[in-house]
Amino acid sequence: MKNVVLLGSTGSIGTSTVKVAEDLPDRIRLVGLAAGNNADLLLAQTLKHQPEVISLADPAKVAALQGSLGAQTEVYGGAEGLLKLATLPSADIVLIAIVGTAGLQPALAAIRAGKDIAVASKEILVMAGEIVMNEARKYGVRVLAVDSEHSAIAQCLDGKPAASVRKLWLTASGGPFRDARLWPKESFADISVERALKHPSWVMGRKITIDSATLFNKGLEMIEARWLFDVEMARVGVVVHPQSIVHSMVEFVDGSLIAQLSTPDMCLPIQYALTYPDRAPNDRVQTDFPKIGTLTFETPDTDRFPAIELARQAGEVGGTLPAVLNAANEVAVEAFVNRKINFPQITETVRRTMAAHRVIAQPTLEEILAADAWARHTATMV
Ligand code: MG
Repeated sequence: MKNVVLLGSTGSIGTSTVKVAEDLPDRIRLVGLAAGNNADLLLAQTLKHQPEVISLADPAKVAALQGSLGAQTEVYGGAEGLLKLATLPSADIVLIAIVGTAGLQPALAAIRAGKDIAVASKEILVMAGEIVMNEARKYGVRVLAVDSEHSAIAQCLDGKPAASVRKLWLTASGGPFRDARLWPKESFADISVERALKHPSWVMGRKITIDSATLFNKGLEMIEARWLFDVEMARVGVVVHPQSIVHSMVEFVDGSLIAQLSTPDMCLPIQYALTYPDRAPNDRVQTDFPKIGTLTFETPDTDRFPAIELARQAGEVGGTLPAVLNAANEVAVEAFVNRKINFPQITETVRRTMAAHRVIAQPTLEEILAADAWARHTATMV
């Protein structure tokens, strides 16, 4: 039995994690749940799963929530609540699926409390990959990937060292604007928010859906992969695979490739992280190859999607630059969704903010957070 703390229980990854826990009641117990603002869903999840401790980002709603529950469940609020849950004595693993930078401090707190962490929030490894992985080594805990691509790579590597790897291949769906005949570069300025929010193969949150359309999602994943698997950026490649059946691949030094495949369903990588190193029987995901028919692969179009190259640059330079890329992108996506900038300006905002940044190599966590704040401010002006 694994005791799981779930930070971000009401979001897209969070609700899938609750489904996995319901699929495997003999293996997974939810001992802590944290949500953002959706108090109603958090209450429903709490009544069903009876966690020891829950937390809500909005402290104003804590008293009402405690009133609806018995004394069996403690209710906390805000950033303090997240730290309380991340270090919960009964927890074996903390799954972090909070949007934005709020997951970073709880991730480090969990590691220092000796907990394995399962990472769904990209910011954690993009901003502070070196610090997080060093702390995990120091405290002897695992950093497990929840993202489908990184879960795939972990499954393909199966414990083999970085020295046995020629290249990690992240697959990308290519997003809704992949086809250059339908969406030539000149048409990008006219892309509407509604169109960009329609993803061809995955149902996800709003921020990540826009990131999939610009390919910044893949860029962030490249940086994550670099830290998670301890390979330099030059050995992290991207191949566009519109069917999203091959979730990623490892090319080994002998030329052999191992890929992980399935019908796209986030419950699978979540389950793998929570049951690791075991595989638990579950019929949820079924893959029908004759029905799928064809798997295709193509080189990403970095002219229409410069995000890949910006991310490669950020990952190669390192230091505070990946945090700046991440923060500028977050601000730009928000501005796009609020119709303040057009689609190509998302990438342009990130490029300009990165160009204006004076990189600090080997930054402390404080310096990373300062670079994040600087980039958020700068991105609104460049
Ligand atoms: Mg992914």
